[in-house]
Amino acid sequence: MSTSIAIHPAVDNGIRPGKAEFAGGTLKCKCTDSPVTVSIKGNVAFNHVCGCTKCWKPEGALFSMVGVVPRENLQVTANEQKLKPVDPSAVILRHACTVCGAHMYGRIENKDHPFYGFDFIHTELSDDEGWAPPEFAAFVSSIIEAGTKPDEMPAVRARLKELGLEPYDCLSPALMDLIATHTAKQKGVLAA
Ligand SMILES: [Zn+2]
Ligand SMILES: [Zn+2]
Repeated sequence: MSTSIAIHPAVDNGIRPGKAEFAGGTLKCKCTDSPVTVSIKGNVAFNHVCGCTKCWKPEGALFSMVGVVPRENLQVTANEQKLKPVDPSAVILRHACTVCGAHMYGRIENKDHPFYGFDFIHTELSDDEGWAPPEFAAFVSSIIEAGTKPDEMPAVRARLKELGLEPYDCLSPALMDLIATHTAKQKGVLAA
């Protein structure tokens, strides 16, 4: 099995377990001078590696690592003036540092969106130990859009499975069910 496939630095050498009683931590952008800091209460949920072309990822990695926290658990604690949405018209407003480029959090402002109320964060921006590790791989086929050759996909999926990250070409079944449940309730198919 080839291990030269760089999925993401946080998982390439094996996945470390999180801490059950993790109280939260601080995310810090890559700037050495006046970094943006974001304080997170509690742990991350649905942490996963993501192959989409929108998520912020480290140089050389095929995937980003991203999870969610309730928006009330997230607070920008320093240098907020450096943050700006990458694309103000996107559904998920990814607030990035205008100096180093790190995405500090993604927020959905549309109250009808299934994921409204959750902010997307990258726990690798934190030195704190205990974050819940990634559980699956989302939007795996999308890495082709970023330049991976289609014939490399079987090896990428095999590596993800070897790491215990089940590969999905959209989101995980739990998250797809959550979206469909939200839609069904909006349509009145399911009782709200
Ligand atoms: Zn993504
Ligand atoms: Zn920065």
